[in-house]
Amino acid sequence: MEKVDILGLLPEQLEAEITAMGAPKFRAKQIFRWLHVRRVFDFAEMTDLSKQFQSELSGRFYINMPKIAQTLASCADDTVKYLCRLSDGNLVETVRMVYHHGVTACISTQVGCKMGCTFCASAPLGFIRNLTPGEMLGQIYAADAGRPEAERISGAVLMGIGEPLDNYDNVMQFLRLLSCPEGRNLSLRHVSLSTCGIVPHIYRLAEEDFPLTLSVSLHAAEDTRRSELMPVNRRYPLSELLKACSDYFKKTGRRVTFEYAVIAGQNDTPEMARLLGERLRPLFPKQRPHVNLIPVNPVKGTGYAAGSAAKFQKLLERQGINATVRRTLGEDIEAACGQLRRNTIENAGL
Ligand code: SAH
Repeated sequence: MEKVDILGLLPEQLEAEITAMGAPKFRAKQIFRWLHVRRVFDFAEMTDLSKQFQSELSGRFYINMPKIAQTLASCADDTVKYLCRLSDGNLVETVRMVYHHGVTACISTQVGCKMGCTFCASAPLGFIRNLTPGEMLGQIYAADAGRPEAERISGAVLMGIGEPLDNYDNVMQFLRLLSCPEGRNLSLRHVSLSTCGIVPHIYRLAEEDFPLTLSVSLHAAEDTRRSELMPVNRRYPLSELLKACSDYFKKTGRRVTFEYAVIAGQNDTPEMARLLGERLRPLFPKQRPHVNLIPVNPVKGTGYAAGSAAKFQKLLERQGINATVRRTLGEDIEAACGQLRRNTIENAGL
C-alpha cells in the first residue's frame, strides 16, 4: 500500500485512517496535535505513543515537510525568503513578511506554472507539478520553525510560484487545514488568493463560502494588451473575467481586489487608466474598486521596465478607483516570486 502524507489530512480523515488501523479515535487527536500545534514532524518524538504504534505509523504514513535549502534575510526589513526543497528534490519559494498586524506567509501552490505570463520569472521554466495540501502547509510550518508561538504566521497570501486555481482541490484542502480549529486555526479573513483569472474556478470558489480575499491579477484593461501580457486572457477575456468578479461579489458579499504590475509604456498610460475606470467602477455597487499597484519587477529576458506606480495611482484615483502602491518588502533578497528558484536552477545548470 502506498504511504499517505499525514500532513495533508483533516482531523476527520486522520481519524478514519487511525481507526482503520485498529487504534482508538483519541490517538488521531493526539497525532493531529503533535503535527499541527506542537509542530513535531517525527513519529519517534511523539512521546505519548508507544514505540510499537510509532513504527506502525511510519509504515503507513510519511510526513512531507519541505526542507529549507536556503534562507535569505532582508537587511532592509524583517522579510525572510526561503527556498524550500520538496521530498522529490523540486524547489519552491516561500516568503515570511512581518507587518504591524501580524506575520504573513507568501506561499507557492505549484512547482512552476502553466500560465505563461510574459513578465513573470516562473513562466520560462514551465510547469512541473502541483503541490499537495501538506506541502503548502509545510511551507508555513517550515517558515515558523524555531520561533515562539507568538511569532507564528497568522496570515497567508497565495502569491508565490504557481496558479492556485489551477490546483483547485489541493488548495481548497490546504485552506481547510489552515483554518481548522484543532490545528493552526488561522482565520481565512487573513488569507488572499491571487489568480490570473481562471473563470470557471472563480465561480467554484464563490460556492465554497470561504471568507478569504480573492485577488485578480489584471495588469491591463483591454484584451489585446492583456493577452500579450497574460496568455490566459485568450481563453478567458476581460468581459468574462470581470463578470465573474461581479458575480463573486453578488454571491459572497466580498469585493474582489485587483493586482496591477505597472510596466513602463505597456499598461501605465492615461488611456489605460481611463479604460480601467470604465470597466471596474460598475463592478461592486456602493463600493469603490480597489487596485494594488506594484512596479513590475524587471525579470531577466523579459525586456520590461518598471513604470511609476505613484503616477499611475494618481491617474486611477481620478477615475474613482482606490489604488494603493504595494509596499515592496525584501527587495534586496529577490523577494519577487520565482526569481530565487530560477537563479538557483540556472546557476546549477539544471
Ligand atoms: N498565479 C497567481 C499568483 C502568483 S503570482 C496570479 O497570477 O495571480 C503573484 C502576483 O505577482 C500576480 O499578481 C502576478 O501577476 C505578479 N507578478 C508576477 N511576476 C511579476 C513581476 N515580475 N513583477 C511584478 N509582479 C509580478
